[in-house]
Order: sequence, then structure tokens, then C-alpha cells
Amino acid sequence: MHEEHVEIVRKIRELRRQKRRAEKKGLIGAWREKDRLNGEIIDSFVIILRTTGCRWAKVSGCSMCGYYNDTSSAIKKEDLKKQIEDALGKYRGEKLVKIYTSGSFLDDAEVPTEIQNEIVDSFSSAERIIVETRPEFVKKKIEWFKSKENIMIALGLESANDETLLFRINKGFLVRHYINAAKLLNEAKIPVKTYALLKPPFMTEREAIEEAIMTIKLATKYSEVVSLNPMNIQSNTLVEYLWQRGEYSPPWLWSIVEVLKRTHELGEIVSYPTAGGTKRGAHNCGKCDEVVVKSIYDFSLHQDISYLANLNCKCRERWEKIVKYGPLFWDYSIEARRE
Ligand code: SF4
Ligand SMILES: [Zn+2]
Repeated sequence: MHEEHVEIVRKIRELRRQKRRAEKKGLIGAWREKDRLNGEIIDSFVIILRTTGCRWAKVSGCSMCGYYNDTSSAIKKEDLKKQIEDALGKYRGEKLVKIYTSGSFLDDAEVPTEIQNEIVDSFSSAERIIVETRPEFVKKKIEWFKSKENIMIALGLESANDETLLFRINKGFLVRHYINAAKLLNEAKIPVKTYALLKPPFMTEREAIEEAIMTIKLATKYSEVVSLNPMNIQSNTLVEYLWQRGEYSPPWLWSIVEVLKRTHELGEIVSYPTAGGTKRGAHNCGKCDEVVVKSIYDFSLHQDISYLANLNCKCRERWEKIVKYGPLFWDYSIEARRE
């Protein structure tokens, strides 16, 4: 296993070197989208800052993550300040503001403390600000969080299985590191959002479903909301490499439906599948994708399981067989959708 792991990390690094070093300095994006806040459906404002990138991605990186494609080593404090200005110019007073980087907002090496403060203070009128971070940056910032009443921390746990974190994702931390960070946040009464990944590589559809359920069960103990994130194929990643060779396929939309049906009573579980219904995202047969993606969105926004109750399509039977017999046929699920 260790030899295979060394090989995986070597491949991740090799693919990263193919990255085109865009020397762009502006915001990666800013837009509005529906979300939930305190049980209501509201408009949220999303900002993606262009930073120097995730610290972990620079030394190794997760097998599915292509965020570094949009980062730039040339980003300086002034560029981040300009990005905040641009974002504020687009802000229309939405109650929920989601500030993403291509790494950890709380890593001072990626977003200097001064800028962290400036951004959060710029949106102090929002009812809630969500920022993402790896767990190792939480402890140092606990006092800072306490001084910001509207902050929520999003942690990318991905999987509650250490074997997956180590060998399938190369996440660079273990489940206990997530738990320690989440407990600190819980004790300080800082709300937590957790991401659970559906279908890491080197796994059958059935294993992926069961593991996502296990992950959600753990994450709901510490989180106000858990977001189920089905895999999408990002450029220059190990997952893309496997996918191009026919050795990986994103999950079925039916698998998302299954996980949500089996976990919705545990707490607020949402899923907004990136690239859902396309070949690089979670998808079904092509005929039912639009309806199923919309139902998953509707369920997530309304937290009403009836949106997932009456979905059907011929391809569901095929998915059921793959889930049942998949472990016997390694990449059967890939072939089934190519017909
Ligand atoms: S998934 Fe997160 S932690 Fe992993 S490389 Fe990407 S930004 Fe870094
Ligand atoms: Zn279908």
C-alpha cells in the first residue's frame, strides 16, 4: 500500500507541473446564488479570491483538487485589497456571504492576517460569513473567531475513513485532526459546516455511498450543516488522469439521492453538485439528469425529502445492479453509461 501511495503522490506532483501559470491578479469570481440561512431560503453572495494557493497543494495536494490551476504565485497584499474592492462593488447586501480561496482563508501565508480582518470587516453587515480552512489553521484563530460574531467555518473533511484520506485523496490530515478542530469550534460556539466527498477514486459506487453516509454521520455531530460534494473532474489532477484512462467515473446522481435519503434525518444535509448532469460531474443516463439535479437542489434548499421521492428513469435499474454487483466488476459503472 505504501509503495502505491508513493506512486500516487508522485503522479499528483507530476500532473501539477503541467499547470499553466496564469499571472492573473483579479478575483476568480463573484456571483449570487440561492442558499439557506436560519431555515430560510435566501440570496447569498459568493466570492472566490485569487490567492497564492493552498499550502498543501504546493507540497503535494489532494488527488481531486484542481483549485491551484487558478492561483498565482505573484499575488501580493495589494492585489487582494483590490479584489476586496471589486467584490464590494458587486455586493448588494446579501445576508449570507461565502468567501472562498483556492485553499485556506485562515492560512496567514495565503491570506495575510490584515487582509483576513479587512475582508471580514468589509462584510460585517452580513448575518453570516462563511470561510473555508484546513483544520490545522483553526486553533490559532479561535480568539479571532470569537471577536467576529457572524463567522462560520467550513472544513473539508471529505471522508471519515483515514484510509481514504491517506491513500485515495492524499488529504494530508486524518479524521482526528478534523475532530479536534471541530470540537474547538463547537466549544467556542462557532458554527461549523463540513464537506463530505462522494466517490473518491479507487472505490466502487457502493463503497462510495456507504462511506459518504458514514462521513455524514460523523460530521453531523459537529456541524450545523453538512454539504455532500459529489466528485467532479478537475483539470491536471490525479482523478482526471484516472478518468481519462477509463479507470474512474464520477458518481451517479442516483447515488447522491440514495445518500440524501439515508441521511436527511441526521441534520441539515445539502448537496449542490458541481457540474451535475455533465460528463465531468455526477450524472445519470443523460435523459433524466436535468430533473434529478433540479430535485437534488430543491431538496437541499427546502430540506424536504419529498422532492426526492418520486424520481424514476430506466437507468435507475442499471444503477441498482451496479451498486449491488459493482464490487465484482471494477469499472462496470463506467462502461454502463457509455452505451
Ligand atoms: S482540496 Fe483543499 S486542502 Fe486539498 S489541495 Fe485543494 S485546496 Fe488544498
Ligand atoms: Zn436516466
